Amino acid sequence: MRLVLLGPPGAGKGTQAKVLSNKLRIPHISTGDIFREVKASESELGKKLSDYMNRGVLVPDEIVNQIVTDRLQRDDVKDAGFILDGYPRTRPQAEALDRALEDIGIHLDSVIYMKTSKRIILSRLTGRRICKACGSIFHIKNIPPKQEGVCDYCEGELYQRDDDKEDTVLKRLQVYEDQTKELIDYYNDREALQTVSGDLDVRQLYDVLYELFGKEGLL
Ligand code: AMP
Repeated sequence: MRLVLLGPPGAGKGTQAKVLSNKLRIPHISTGDIFREVKASESELGKKLSDYMNRGVLVPDEIVNQIVTDRLQRDDVKDAGFILDGYPRTRPQAEALDRALEDIGIHLDSVIYMKTSKRIILSRLTGRRICKACGSIFHIKNIPPKQEGVCDYCEGELYQRDDDKEDTVLKRLQVYEDQTKELIDYYNDREALQTVSGDLDVRQLYDVLYELFGKEGLL
């Protein structure tokens, strides 16, 4: 199964990608996660990425395309496919993805667009807290941890991503409007797009995806 999850920041792409990846045993490729790992390494590239990410702007296409193209060459992708989350985000990235897939002789099976309202996005992102140790995701109102600031699963410390602060979230949403939204037409024109509501909560949205993929016997 080769799947792209498309939608604004805060649509829940990462959360659904993790669930689908576990259920379907398909690699989850999140460019945001890859960049956060490199950023944490404090290498030269990490510092560069930090600058883009903390400003809420996109990392240049050449860097992102190279990382994803390399990742798609790995054996696990050949065997099981992939769930792309946060990529592509610009038209040149979508075209680079097409070329990379053509080179390895495969095509996309589905592009899911998670359409989400601005009010929901703002509340989700500014309230999001993540465990430093295990990466579990909480929300100060919607999924509060039992003890404030502490992970329910591993007792790790919870933190707020720098780019989840309100000013940066607004910038990220603007970047999405300006650069990513056109991909909806790009994939719609090729009849590969299926739209679901990113306003639904995690469980409800999972049920909708289950309907979509369950019918194909994938879940
Ligand atoms: P995310 O976790 O997907 O919201 O990504 C966090 C940040 O990483 C974004 O705000 C961008 O700065 C950067 N990023 C992630 N994916 C991409 C991409 N496909 N193209 C450019 N920048 C990206």
